[in-house]
Amino acid sequence: MDNSKTKIETNNRKYQELIEVPNAVIFHLDRDWNYSSLNLEWTHLTAYKVDETLATPFLTYVKEEDRVMIKDQFESLIQGKDDGIHKEFMLVSKDGQMEEVHLFLRVNLDEQQNVESFSGTITCLTSRKDNIDAYKRDIKNYQLITENMTDMVAVLAEDGLVLYASPSHTTFLGMELDEYIGSYPIKHIHPDDWERVFHFFHRMIETWATLDIEYRCMHKDGHWLDLEMKCTPIKGPNDEIQIISVSRDITLRKKAEEELRQATIKFKTLLASLPYGVKVEDETGHVTLINDAYLDIFSQDKNAKKPFISEVNHVVQDDESYIREKHEITRMCQSRRSEEIHLLNGRTIERDAIPMMEDEHFDGYLWIFRDVTAEKEAERKLQKANQILKELSLLDGLTGIANRRCFDKALEREWNKQMNLTEPISLLLLDIDYFKAFNDLYGHQAGDTCLKQVGSLLKNIPKEPHDLVARYGGEEFVVMLPGSAVEQAIEMAKSIQEAVKYANITHEGSMISESLTLSIGVSTLIVTTMNKPSDLIREADKALYDAKRKGRNRFNVRS
Ligand code: GH3
Ligand code: MG
Ligand code: MG
Repeated sequence: MDNSKTKIETNNRKYQELIEVPNAVIFHLDRDWNYSSLNLEWTHLTAYKVDETLATPFLTYVKEEDRVMIKDQFESLIQGKDDGIHKEFMLVSKDGQMEEVHLFLRVNLDEQQNVESFSGTITCLTSRKDNIDAYKRDIKNYQLITENMTDMVAVLAEDGLVLYASPSHTTFLGMELDEYIGSYPIKHIHPDDWERVFHFFHRMIETWATLDIEYRCMHKDGHWLDLEMKCTPIKGPNDEIQIISVSRDITLRKKAEEELRQATIKFKTLLASLPYGVKVEDETGHVTLINDAYLDIFSQDKNAKKPFISEVNHVVQDDESYIREKHEITRMCQSRRSEEIHLLNGRTIERDAIPMMEDEHFDGYLWIFRDVTAEKEAERKLQKANQILKELSLLDGLTGIANRRCFDKALEREWNKQMNLTEPISLLLLDIDYFKAFNDLYGHQAGDTCLKQVGSLLKNIPKEPHDLVARYGGEEFVVMLPGSAVEQAIEMAKSIQEAVKYANITHEGSMISESLTLSIGVSTLIVTTMNKPSDLIREADKALYDAKRKGRNRFNVRS
C-alpha cells in the first residue's frame, strides 16, 4: 500500500512538472491511448475543444503516415524498453492542417507493473525549428569565423561539457577535436587552478557577464600552457545556459612577462647599487625614475612622502639659469658629459646628460650625477704637491736656494738669450776655504748650518733680476750674471767677500783667517756660436783654482 502511495506521489510530481512546462500541450491518456485530460494549449494548437477531444484516441490526430511509427513508440514503452520517448510527428488540426510537433511520452505503471496510463507533452516545432535553424545558421557563420581564428573558441554547456571546439584547439592542446568535444576540460586544467576556475564559472553565470581568467592547461604531451580565457554566458537554442569561451595561449607572453619582471628586478638592483645618482625624465621633462644615490647626493630623505625630483634648490647656480641651461640641453637633444655643478653644501658634482632614443625618436633624458668632491679635492692636492715637487726639484734641499739643476737650466736659457744679443755673461764660482777642517772641528751639523748661512747671505746680495745664485755642490756656490761684463762681476765678487767678512763666521780651523773665507773664480764670455756654457764654467773653475793656489780668500778673474 505504501508502495502504491509513493508511486502516486511520484506520478503526481511528474505530472505537476509537466503541467509547468510552458507553451506545450500537456496530456494524459488512458491505457487504451484515449485522451483523459488535456490543457488549453491543445485548443491553441489544433482548434479542437478539450471536451470534444477527451475519450478520443491519440492516433486520431496523428497524420496517417506517422501512425505506424507512433504505434511502435507506444509498444516499446509498454514493453519497458524505454522510460520515455522523444519523437517528432505531424499533428492534424481541426481544419486539416498539419503541424510539426515534438512528442514527449511516458508510461505510468500500476502496482503490478501493468500499464495504467500515459502522460506527455506535445510541443509545436514550427517556431522552435525556426530558432534551431537560426542557431544552426549562426553556428555555421560562427564556425566560418572560429575555424579560421588562431584563438581557441569553444561552446560549453553549463556544467563545462565541451559542445563545440574550434580546430585551433588541436594546434594548441595537441588533442583531436573529437577527443576534446564531449569531454570535461577540467581534467586538463592544472589542479592548483581548479578552485579559481570553478569560482570564475560560477561568478560569470551569476553576474551574466563576460569575464577573463588566466590558468594553466596541459598539452597532450604533458607540458603546461598558460592560457587566457574570456567567457561569456549565453542562452542556448533551448534556453539552456551555454558558455562561449575564447582562449589564447599566453605562454610566450607569460615568459616574456617573467623575463621582463626578472630584468626589472636586476635593473632595480643595479640601480640601487650604483654609486652615482640617476634621474630619468620623459620627453615632457616629467621625472619617471630616481635612485637612492640621487637622493643621497642631494641630501634627501628616502622615506619622504613627496619624492624629491629636482636638484635645482641645491645648486650654487641660480635656479633660473640652471633650469634654462637644462632646457637648452634637452631642446638641442644634446649629450653632455662630466659637467661640473657646485652645490650649496660645498660639494662638487659631475653631471652627464644623455638623450634616450627609441627608434630614432626622442624618448627622454637620462641624467647621471657623480659626487666628485673627494676626487676634485685629491686633484687639487695633487696639483699643489706637483707644484711643490717641481719647485723642490729646482731648489737645494739644504740651503733653499736654486740647485745645480736649476742653475744648468738657467744658464742654458740665458746663454741662448745672450747669443742673439751678443752680450757678455759672467759667472762666479765660489768655494769655502778649508771647509773640511770646519766640519772636522765643529761637526757636520754645524757645517750644514754654515752652508745655510752662506746660502742666505748670497741670496741677499743685491742683484739684477736675471742674476741667479745657486748651490753648485758641496761647499761650492755659483752666481750667474747674464748681461754683466767682467767689471760688474768683479764688483759682485768683492761684495760677496765683504758680506762674508761682515758675517764673521768663526772658523778656527782655517789656516788663513779667524773667520770663514771664500775663494772665487770669475769668468766672463761674450756668447757666440763658437762657445758654449761649459766653457764659461770651465774658465771660472780655472780661475777658482788659481785663487786657491794663490793663497785663498780672494777672487781671480779669467776673461
Ligand atoms: P779648500 O780650501 O781647498 O777648498 O779645502 P776644503 O777643505 O774646503 O776642501 P775639500 O774638497 O778638501 O773638502 C770639502 C769638504 O766639504 C768635504 C766635505 O765633508 C764638506 N762638505 C761637502 N758638502 C757638505 C755638506 O753638505 N755639509 C757639510 N757639513 N759638509 C760638506
Ligand atoms: Mg771644494
Ligand atoms: Mg773648499
